Amino acid sequence: MALLQIAEPGQSTAPHQHRLAVGIDLGTTHSLVATVRDGLPTVLADADGTRLLPSVVRYHADGAISVGAAARAALADDPANTIASVKRLMGRGLRDVAIRPSYRLLDAPGMVQIATAGGVKSPVEVSAHILRSLRQRAEAALGGELVGAVITVPAYFDEAQRQATKDAARLAGIEVLRLLAEPTAAALAYGLDQAAEGVYAVYDLGGGTFDISVLRLTGGVFEVLAVNGDAALGGDDFDHVLADWMAARALLDAPTSCQRQTLLGLARAAKEALSERAEVAVIHSLPGGQVLDLTLSRSQFEALTADLVARTLPPVRRALRDSGVTVDEVTGVVLVGGATRMPAIRAAVGQFFGRPPLTDLDPDAVVAIGAALQADALAGNRSDDWLLLDVIPLSLGIETLGGLTEKIVPRNSTLPVARAQDFTTFKDGQTAIAIQVLQGERERADQCRALARFELRGIPPMPAGLARVRVTFQVDADGLLRVAALEQTSGVAAEVSVKPAYGLDEPTIAAMLADARAHLLDDADERRLRELTVESERIMLATASALEADGERLLNAVERGAILSAMDALRTALGEGRIEPIRVAMDGLDAVTAEFAARRMDVAVHTALTGQHLAALP
Ligand code: ADP
Ligand code: MG
Repeated sequence: MALLQIAEPGQSTAPHQHRLAVGIDLGTTHSLVATVRDGLPTVLADADGTRLLPSVVRYHADGAISVGAAARAALADDPANTIASVKRLMGRGLRDVAIRPSYRLLDAPGMVQIATAGGVKSPVEVSAHILRSLRQRAEAALGGELVGAVITVPAYFDEAQRQATKDAARLAGIEVLRLLAEPTAAALAYGLDQAAEGVYAVYDLGGGTFDISVLRLTGGVFEVLAVNGDAALGGDDFDHVLADWMAARALLDAPTSCQRQTLLGLARAAKEALSERAEVAVIHSLPGGQVLDLTLSRSQFEALTADLVARTLPPVRRALRDSGVTVDEVTGVVLVGGATRMPAIRAAVGQFFGRPPLTDLDPDAVVAIGAALQADALAGNRSDDWLLLDVIPLSLGIETLGGLTEKIVPRNSTLPVARAQDFTTFKDGQTAIAIQVLQGERERADQCRALARFELRGIPPMPAGLARVRVTFQVDADGLLRVAALEQTSGVAAEVSVKPAYGLDEPTIAAMLADARAHLLDDADERRLRELTVESERIMLATASALEADGERLLNAVERGAILSAMDALRTALGEGRIEPIRVAMDGLDAVTAEFAARRMDVAVHTALTGQHLAALP
């Protein structure tokens, strides 16, 4: 613990310098709160000594609300009003929700809503109840008011999901010091304890999500090289497979919702027991009368769920490839999440990396502990400051002329990040431009996801190509995006904060990335064609306006005719849409306009553009 220090009293006159800050692991299945006390990270327990708070909230018809174990106990009896796995709904529209919960979802603009006996609830409110319960636990244990919390989110959470998490914290009266990727928090917990340099893989299999991150630790600085995962894969899926198997054994064709919940509870208990034992007996009477009486061996269970274990490996491969690291270069593998207690997972991970994974820290608590360490640092309780770098999962950019994507912040850039790029106008006298903010890897704008659109108006009229529009992308440490545009000669500015209506799930992200790779070649051709088209149109516009201004004065009728027919030829080639003929026609037009351009230069009518190449905006 050499790196932890107790802060010296500063200028403040307050008697207690230590500011109460906590780390919160807001999990799909369980949530935890931890803090640093006397230099040591500690997970805080409730009055009964329990550390894991089930992330379950029950709404009663009389308006009462129960949270945690009491709510989870009601899952079988009152499934319609007992909300589990709400994390999977955060920041999502109905169409994006990957689970079929036991409660009723309502379509709503932006985020899905939940119909309960206690009224319609948003996922943000449900999460706020969980967070409020953790806040009360922390304040009771620490004897004071919190200054703030670091809350962890899956590495793949997009803008909408992160924003929803922040909103939930605000509702719960918690100041968010920072949102932190869960695997990053875990690495933080391990990195500080061991202070070992090298490349680490963090394999996090929780109840509902799988995340794999590749991080580099150097000189006390963590850098996330790449993230990958599957937002629709977790320990719950093992329960579902086992519950199906049990239902088949009990000859239940279509279990009722209550029976299903009971089976899921039994399946989870059997699964967890099989992490310790080779065989379990399950004897239970189900709602409706049937009696379940069976034994299950670990090898039977592993055979039933082998493909779930295997599904975690392709994302691991992708994360390594994205980070440019080979399996041999990985110094250590950290296991996070309750589901990594399964021996089959440990074996598969060990085999993949060719070394046994690190399991010194409790896989349930490791994320909360890392968050607590970070919260302690951010609250100013530590004198040494750390740098913590997360990455963005998909490239961000804008649409340029011809429907192309111009990437401004490449995928896997470390956060926080700010990037700027200059653009210009396409037409003479153009006074407004539309800025379409995109997320994705494809070359064509319509194949990326549109995050936001805004307009920059009031640009003073000037010749095409003279306006200088600086577009700045800023992604803060929480992964929230702000885009600003500034026309630099006039100072006209506009900006948007991007809060998309709802997020992309991991399969969608994975599909977008796979799609981008598959189309790499097509896209390159397509991009050249579009660029040529844009360039041709620009030249034709410029030529037409030059003809109008000086055609009569500087050219004779034959010369004018040659230029007009070269323009016609280019127009025809553009209509055909093939790269080669367009290029030939462009060269043709260039040849017949060279003399005209020289004469115009001579009379100094036109101001030539100097400086860097600018792409044009629509
Ligand atoms: P989350 O991050 O989604 O909240 P957790 O890290 O708490 O999830 O992991 C919850 C999952 O871990 C559940 O599916 C639970 O059944 C599983 N789990 C917990 N303990 C064990 C165990 N001993 N063996 C197998 N799975 C376990
Ligand atoms: Mg977790």
